[in-house]
Amino acid sequence: MDDFPSRDGAEDAVHKRLRRAVEKREKAYLWTPSDAITFIPRVSPTIYGDGRALFTIATINQRPAYWVIRACSTWGSGNDREDATGPDFGEVTDQIMTDLEDQFGRGRCGYSGNSLFWPRKERLRNCQCEECDEKRFKARWPMVDDDGGCSWSRCDWPPGFPTAPNPLSWRGNLLAEEGRANG
Ligand SMILES: [Zn+2]
Repeated sequence: MDDFPSRDGAEDAVHKRLRRAVEKREKAYLWTPSDAITFIPRVSPTIYGDGRALFTIATINQRPAYWVIRACSTWGSGNDREDATGPDFGEVTDQIMTDLEDQFGRGRCGYSGNSLFWPRKERLRNCQCEECDEKRFKARWPMVDDDGGCSWSRCDWPPGFPTAPNPLSWRGNLLAEEGRANG
Protein backbone atom coordinates (compact mmCIF):
# COMPACT_ATOMS: atom_id res chain seq x y z
CA MET A 1 0.00 0.00 0.00
CA ASP A 2 1.55 3.25 -1.10
CA ASP A 3 -1.29 5.62 -1.84
CA PHE A 4 -0.44 8.22 0.76
CA PRO A 5 2.26 10.85 0.36
CA SER A 6 5.46 10.61 2.36
CA ARG A 7 8.63 12.63 2.40
CA ASP A 8 12.06 12.62 3.91
CA GLY A 9 12.34 14.64 7.12
CA ALA A 10 16.08 15.33 6.88
CA GLU A 11 15.65 19.05 6.18
CA ASP A 12 12.49 19.53 8.24
CA ALA A 13 13.05 21.74 11.32
CA VAL A 14 10.31 20.11 13.39
CA HIS A 15 11.66 16.70 12.52
CA LYS A 16 15.16 17.61 13.66
CA ARG A 17 13.77 18.93 16.91
CA LEU A 18 11.68 15.81 17.39
CA ARG A 19 14.76 13.65 16.95
CA ARG A 20 16.62 15.61 19.60
CA ALA A 21 13.69 15.23 22.01
CA VAL A 22 13.12 11.51 21.40
CA GLU A 23 16.49 9.97 20.72
CA LYS A 24 17.77 9.72 24.26
CA ARG A 25 19.00 6.65 26.01
CA GLU A 26 16.28 4.97 28.03
CA LYS A 27 15.84 1.85 30.05
CA ALA A 28 12.67 -0.17 29.80
CA TYR A 29 11.38 -3.67 30.32
CA LEU A 30 8.52 -5.67 28.95
CA TRP A 31 7.46 -7.91 31.81
CA THR A 32 9.88 -7.75 34.70
CA PRO A 33 12.55 -5.27 35.75
CA SER A 34 15.29 -7.90 35.46
CA ASP A 35 14.63 -7.98 31.69
CA ALA A 36 15.32 -4.27 31.34
CA ILE A 37 17.25 -3.20 28.28
CA THR A 38 18.90 0.11 27.51
CA PHE A 39 18.28 1.52 24.07
CA ILE A 40 17.83 4.75 22.15
CA PRO A 41 14.39 5.11 20.57
CA ARG A 42 14.69 6.21 16.97
CA VAL A 43 12.56 8.56 14.91
CA SER A 44 11.79 7.27 11.42
CA PRO A 45 13.28 9.71 8.88
CA THR A 46 10.09 9.40 6.84
CA ILE A 47 7.18 11.80 7.38
CA TYR A 48 3.79 10.45 6.32
CA GLY A 49 1.02 12.75 5.14
CA ASP A 50 0.90 15.97 7.17
CA GLY A 51 3.18 14.54 9.87
CA ARG A 52 1.09 15.93 12.71
CA ALA A 53 0.40 12.67 14.56
CA LEU A 54 2.91 10.52 16.44
CA PHE A 55 2.91 6.78 16.89
CA THR A 56 5.35 4.41 18.49
CA ILE A 57 5.94 1.08 16.78
CA ALA A 58 7.84 -1.91 18.12
CA THR A 59 8.45 -5.37 16.74
CA ILE A 60 7.48 -8.37 18.82
CA ASN A 61 11.10 -9.50 18.76
CA GLN A 62 12.58 -6.16 19.77
CA ARG A 63 10.13 -4.81 22.32
CA PRO A 64 10.38 -2.69 24.39
CA ALA A 65 12.72 -0.82 22.00
CA TYR A 66 10.65 1.26 19.61
CA TRP A 67 10.67 3.70 16.72
CA VAL A 68 8.65 6.91 16.60
CA ILE A 69 6.66 7.52 13.43
CA ARG A 70 5.44 10.92 12.26
CA ALA A 71 2.16 10.01 10.67
CA CYS A 72 -0.80 11.79 9.14
CA SER A 73 -3.47 13.37 11.32
CA THR A 74 -6.08 11.70 9.11
CA TRP A 75 -4.98 8.20 10.05
CA GLY A 76 -7.06 6.16 12.43
CA SER A 77 -5.92 3.66 15.00
CA GLY A 78 -7.60 0.78 16.78
CA ASN A 79 -9.89 2.21 19.42
CA ASP A 80 -10.26 5.64 17.84
CA ARG A 81 -13.48 7.15 16.72
CA GLU A 82 -14.41 5.44 13.51
CA ASP A 83 -14.63 8.43 11.21
CA ALA A 84 -10.96 8.80 10.31
CA THR A 85 -10.60 9.93 6.70
CA GLY A 86 -7.27 8.19 6.24
CA PRO A 87 -6.24 4.54 6.55
CA ASP A 88 -5.95 2.77 9.89
CA PHE A 89 -2.37 2.64 11.12
CA GLY A 90 -2.61 -1.16 11.00
CA GLU A 91 -3.13 -1.01 7.24
CA VAL A 92 0.11 0.86 6.62
CA THR A 93 2.49 -0.97 8.93
CA ASP A 94 3.90 -3.05 6.05
CA GLN A 95 4.97 0.12 4.29
CA ILE A 96 6.30 1.63 7.51
CA MET A 97 8.36 -1.46 8.36
CA THR A 98 9.76 -1.51 4.82
CA ASP A 99 10.75 2.14 5.14
CA LEU A 100 12.39 1.45 8.52
CA GLU A 101 14.33 -1.45 6.97
CA ASP A 102 15.48 0.81 4.15
CA GLN A 103 16.66 3.41 6.65
CA PHE A 104 18.08 1.30 9.46
CA GLY A 105 18.79 -2.04 7.83
CA ARG A 106 17.10 -5.42 8.00
CA GLY A 107 18.06 -7.80 10.78
CA ARG A 108 16.91 -10.87 8.85
CA CYS A 109 18.73 -12.70 6.09
CA GLY A 110 16.82 -12.52 2.82
CA TYR A 111 17.39 -16.19 2.00
CA SER A 112 16.73 -18.21 5.12
CA GLY A 113 15.04 -15.69 7.38
CA ASN A 114 17.90 -16.20 9.83
CA SER A 115 18.13 -13.55 12.48
CA LEU A 116 21.25 -11.51 11.88
CA PHE A 117 21.13 -10.65 15.57
CA TRP A 118 22.48 -14.15 16.20
CA PRO A 119 26.23 -14.70 16.30
CA ARG A 120 27.79 -15.79 12.98
CA LYS A 121 28.40 -19.30 14.24
CA GLU A 122 24.70 -19.89 14.85
CA ARG A 123 23.64 -18.24 11.60
CA LEU A 124 25.91 -20.51 9.58
CA ARG A 125 24.04 -23.56 10.81
CA ASN A 126 21.03 -22.62 8.69
CA CYS A 127 22.43 -20.49 5.94
CA GLN A 128 25.75 -19.73 4.28
CA CYS A 129 24.78 -16.59 2.39
CA GLU A 130 27.03 -13.56 2.32
CA GLU A 131 25.13 -11.76 5.09
CA CYS A 132 25.06 -14.72 7.44
CA ASP A 133 28.72 -15.42 6.74
CA GLU A 134 29.90 -11.88 7.36
CA LYS A 135 32.65 -11.94 9.91
CA ARG A 136 32.54 -9.73 12.98
CA PHE A 137 29.03 -8.67 12.02
CA LYS A 138 25.98 -8.91 14.18
CA ALA A 139 22.79 -6.93 13.65
CA ARG A 140 22.10 -4.31 16.27
CA TRP A 141 19.22 -2.05 17.21
CA PRO A 142 17.81 -0.07 15.38
CA MET A 143 18.09 -2.64 12.59
CA VAL A 144 14.68 -4.18 12.03
CA ASP A 145 13.60 -7.70 12.91
CA ASP A 146 9.89 -7.80 12.14
CA ASP A 147 9.59 -11.56 12.04
CA GLY A 148 6.58 -12.21 14.26
CA GLY A 149 4.94 -8.85 13.62
CA CYS A 150 4.74 -5.55 15.39
CA SER A 151 2.60 -3.50 17.73
CA TRP A 152 1.94 0.19 17.88
CA SER A 153 0.13 2.95 19.72
CA ARG A 154 -0.48 6.64 19.49
CA CYS A 155 1.75 8.89 21.55
CA ASP A 156 1.87 12.54 22.54
CA TRP A 157 4.36 15.05 21.22
CA PRO A 158 7.21 15.67 23.67
CA PRO A 159 6.91 18.76 25.91
CA GLY A 160 7.73 22.02 24.14
CA PHE A 161 5.97 21.37 20.84
CA PRO A 162 2.81 23.35 20.06
CA THR A 163 -0.02 20.83 20.05
CA ALA A 164 -3.74 20.54 19.54
CA PRO A 165 -6.14 17.85 20.73
CA ASN A 166 -6.68 14.97 18.32
CA PRO A 167 -10.34 14.88 17.30
CA LEU A 168 -10.04 11.14 16.61
CA SER A 169 -8.58 10.05 19.90
CA TRP A 170 -8.11 11.07 23.52
CA ARG A 171 -4.63 9.67 23.23
CA GLY A 172 -1.90 11.12 21.05
CA ASN A 173 -2.22 14.86 20.48
CA LEU A 174 -1.47 16.55 17.17
CA LEU A 175 1.19 19.05 16.23
CA ALA A 176 -0.55 22.43 16.01
CA GLU A 177 -0.97 23.61 12.43
CA GLU A 178 1.20 26.71 12.87
CA GLY A 179 3.95 24.60 14.41
CA ARG A 180 4.74 23.14 11.02
CA ALA A 181 5.99 26.36 9.52
CA ASN A 182 8.16 27.81 12.26
CA GLY A 183 9.26 24.66 14.07
ZN1 LIG B 1 21.63 -16.08 5.14
